[in-house]
Amino acid sequence: MSFVEYSDCIKEGDIAIVYVSHENMIPVKVKPGVQTQTKYGVIRHSTDLIGKQYGTKVTCSKGGWVYVLHPTPELWTVTLPHRTQILYTTDIATITMMLELKPGSVVCESGTGSGSLSHAILRSIAPTGHLHTVEFHQQRAEKAAEEFTEHRVGHLVTVRNQDVCKEGFGVSGVADAVFLDIPSPWEAVGHAKTAMKRHGGRVCSFSPCIEQVQKTCEALTDQGFEDISTLEVLLRVHDVKTVSLPTPDFGPTQPTQIQTDEDAKKPPQKQNQPCVTQKTTILPRDMPGHTGYLTFATKPRT
Ligand code: SAH
Repeated sequence: MSFVEYSDCIKEGDIAIVYVSHENMIPVKVKPGVQTQTKYGVIRHSTDLIGKQYGTKVTCSKGGWVYVLHPTPELWTVTLPHRTQILYTTDIATITMMLELKPGSVVCESGTGSGSLSHAILRSIAPTGHLHTVEFHQQRAEKAAEEFTEHRVGHLVTVRNQDVCKEGFGVSGVADAVFLDIPSPWEAVGHAKTAMKRHGGRVCSFSPCIEQVQKTCEALTDQGFEDISTLEVLLRVHDVKTVSLPTPDFGPTQPTQIQTDEDAKKPPQKQNQPCVTQKTTILPRDMPGHTGYLTFATKPRT
């Protein structure tokens, strides 16, 4: 198992995602002799997981069943242990596309945080790219490095424990893309430029507040970045419901039938009106909240 490559069978040391329901998924480190507790009872790693195929339905000790899924960056994002706020798939999808990430890309990122975005970047740039990720909180940097090794993507990433605003990314002239998720991104824009290749590249900064966006845009302009644009991605989930609607009344079926003045005064016939059952979608009453603004820019060739 690796987070960037699919394997068929569950092995010792793998991270498997135990799917109990859409709202209840558990990341599990597979180890002989260990048991994982679910609401349907226990899963025994030695007999229920090791040697089985990913995607298998596993019956738990109380008779209910779960699926055991191969890990992906998307599943990791919804199951990872939070050490910070994290980026979710809606923003991540836009970031990886707008930064034009592809196999072989070299990317700089700060802060690493809980590694949610990092895993998606790694899957996009594997097998030949590299991620340089900078995190100034020592335990977070260490934990992220540990997880990258455990997820067998350690060879694709270098974690640096330093302040990106003061010391930069630790590389220069190598990055195709730079991503910033820190409170004062404008202080790191100069370092982003230094880290990037001479022939250009893309930069993105994520900030929850518009004041941060303003300062970042000013810094990007001062550093000569072009095509600066900010966008916000909002996810609107529609609820599918079955509703019963009255059949529309298109008036008399006989076009020749003449409606008298008397008929026109009568109220429309509502009783026993036939109904049709159909599916419709209903908008949520509460819109999912604002996450942040994504500011993109291009570094011109020098
Ligand atoms: N994008 C990450 C979350 C980042 S949270 C994810 O998806 O998981 C922001 C992180 O930036 C925090 O861990 C914080 O410690 C780190 N950080 C803030 N300022 C920093 C700086 N100047 N240099 C390096 N890391 C910084």
